[in-house]
Amino acid sequence: MEDLFLKALPLLHELKRHDWQAYFVGGAVRDTYMNRPVGDVDIATDAPPEEIESIFPKTIDVGKEHGTIIVLFDGESYEVTTFRAELEYEDFRRPSGVQFIKSLKEDLKRRDLTINAMAMDAEGRLIDYFGGRQHIKEKLIETVGDPAERFHEDALRMLRALRFMSQLEFTLSQSTKKAICENGHLLAHISTERKTVEFEKLLKGNAAGQALKAVAETGLYTELPGLAHKKERILTAGGFPFFKLEKRADVWAAFIFMMSIGTAEAHDFLKAWKLPGKVIKQAAQVAGRIDQQWDVLAMYEAGEETLISACAIQMLKDDQAVDERRLAEVRKAYQALPIKSLKDLAVTGGDLLRVREKPPGKWVADDLKRIERAVLNGELANQKKAIEEWLDSCNQI
Ligand code: ATP
Ligand code: MG
Repeated sequence: MEDLFLKALPLLHELKRHDWQAYFVGGAVRDTYMNRPVGDVDIATDAPPEEIESIFPKTIDVGKEHGTIIVLFDGESYEVTTFRAELEYEDFRRPSGVQFIKSLKEDLKRRDLTINAMAMDAEGRLIDYFGGRQHIKEKLIETVGDPAERFHEDALRMLRALRFMSQLEFTLSQSTKKAICENGHLLAHISTERKTVEFEKLLKGNAAGQALKAVAETGLYTELPGLAHKKERILTAGGFPFFKLEKRADVWAAFIFMMSIGTAEAHDFLKAWKLPGKVIKQAAQVAGRIDQQWDVLAMYEAGEETLISACAIQMLKDDQAVDERRLAEVRKAYQALPIKSLKDLAVTGGDLLRVREKPPGKWVADDLKRIERAVLNGELANQKKAIEEWLDSCNQI
């Protein structure tokens, strides 16, 4: 058993000591069987939420009505969820209620994909009622039960299917693909926030190219923000190795660049995905500079972070790899700039007012801009005296 499971094992033992069933479930079980790094270890039990709260000293109620309690244990936090069956679904996105149940099998049956519907007991034995292990072997994404029915219950599952396709480098089973083609329009019922979470994971997956191809082929793109008429572009964007980017803003910058979304539309496009303001600002800035010719002024105006991001994306677009040596040179060139912002100038607006003995006005900003350019271009040393003399000589002309 993996270390992360061993660390969480006392939780299963504690639940069992109180005569409840307890299993590891979900992504961690899947990832173990794929020899992938395990993320969060989730636990399922037939103990009702109140029991979970009374058994463990430190808990957080994050959705008791749905059966989910967070248990804090040994410096980690674990989602412990009561076995549940979902009642009738409303609006293609949420059950009208949940019913706590005693059967692990029924709990696993409501999960989205066969590979996500396995459990592991305290002895490390795999419980696999729906062929998850076989599908891992076949690298296949398939829903638990009839795909059309499952997508009618919760339409987000279609996008999740493609997200896992990208992350795990799997293919869609014929029946699951067919059901996505036929039911893609149901995604319209899903909130943008939920779609964005899945789409971002899709972009960052190793096989984003294949998944974006599926987004295009299944027609799912027509229900994604700002992509409705961009099938061809989506296929082109599939050629970019987004997984090589770490920052969220960079992933979106590369995406809008690959989608040929210009500076004018970038903000609205990113806003339609309901991204945080900071990500929108950074992504738009970087995207606008990817094709930039870099001289001192352009580097200065971009700032170090935007400069490095834009250069890295450009390299990935051209060569599928970041040339670290070249990137280090770019960083060095930036570091060598005599000033990084107006604040670094050896004179301030106040100094200019004093020296020129003129009433304040637009001329102060104009002079500062001239000084800034001259310093950046290497025509003028960033020293108070030199700048004052230079201004004098300029103003005599
Ligand atoms: P990740 O490593 O990205 O966290 P994960 O498999 O843990 O992958 P989560 O989104 O964290 O995915 O969901 C945890 C588990 O809950 C899934 O493995 C699946 O069993 C179940 N699940 C999540 N979302 C749905 C859904 N929309 N419909 C049915 N089951 C779902
Ligand atoms: Mg998870």
